[in-house]
Amino acid sequence: MPELPEVRVVRQELNKYVKNKIITDVHVFRDSFIKEIKPEEFKKAIVGETIIEITNYGKFLVFHLTNGKIILSHLRMEGKYNFFDPAKTRFYHDYVIFELDGNTNLHYNDTRMFGTFHLRNVNNYLTIEPLSKLAKIPAETDLNTFYDKLSKSKKAIKTLLLDQTFVVGLGNIYVDEVLFATKIHPQTLANKINKKQAKMLLETATDILDRSTELGGSSINSYTSLNKKKGSFQNFLQVHTKVNQPCPRCKNKIIKIKVNGRGTYYCPVCQREQ
Ligand SMILES: [Zn+2]
Repeated sequence: MPELPEVRVVRQELNKYVKNKIITDVHVFRDSFIKEIKPEEFKKAIVGETIIEITNYGKFLVFHLTNGKIILSHLRMEGKYNFFDPAKTRFYHDYVIFELDGNTNLHYNDTRMFGTFHLRNVNNYLTIEPLSKLAKIPAETDLNTFYDKLSKSKKAIKTLLLDQTFVVGLGNIYVDEVLFATKIHPQTLANKINKKQAKMLLETATDILDRSTELGGSSINSYTSLNKKKGSFQNFLQVHTKVNQPCPRCKNKIIKIKVNGRGTYYCPVCQREQ
C-alpha cells in the first residue's frame, strides 16, 4: 500500500509526464471508481481541460485542471498510473484511461479495485470531505496541539499515529520506523508520551518521510510509482519486515506483534514498554 512518500513520488513522476497536457477523452471501465457522480458527468466535466499540475494532500493526488476543476485520486491498496507515448490500448486491470493530447494517454490500473476518484473544484476541495477530515503532515503539525491530543488519548501510540485524522502520512511501514528511531514501544499508551518524545516523533517522522521520498519510496509488496519504477527506501528499513533479524542498534532479535490488527515490528530491548 503506498504511503505518503510513495504518493509524493507518484506525484513527481506524474508532473514530469502529464503536466500541461489536455485531457481529450476519458474512458471509465468500472463505474464504482468514480465517487458521488456518474462517469458521464465526470467525463463531461474534465474533457477539454488542461492539467495545470498535480499536487498531493496527504495520500490524495490532486489534479489541478483549468476552469478550477480538481480531480482527487486515491490509490488505496494497489492503484498505479502508467503513461504511454504513443498512446496504448487498455491492459488488464486498467479501469480509467485519460486520453491526452499529442497521442499520449495515462492509464489508471488497480488490481484490488479500492482506488477512488472524486471531482471537486478549487473553491471546495479543502473544505468538504474527504480532504476536510484529514489532519496535517508531521512537518506542519503544531507541537502543542499534538501533545495535547496525545495526553488525552488512551490508545496505543501506533494506533493513533496511523489515524489520518490525527496526523497525516504515516502508514504501517513508517510508523514502525519512526517508533524504532524514537525508542518508543508501539503499544505505549498515548497519554504516557512526554512532550520531549512528542517533539521527537514529529521531527523523526518528518525526516523519515522526506528521506524515503528522496529515495523514491519503499518498494515492498508491490509498490511501484509511475511506469513500474521502483523506490529504494526498503533497503534502509530498520525494523519493518525484519522479524527475527538483529536490531541495527543492539543486535537483539526484532519481533513481530499485532497492534490493533496491524503487523508491527519492533525491538523489545530498544523500545521498552513505558
Ligand atoms: Zn534494539
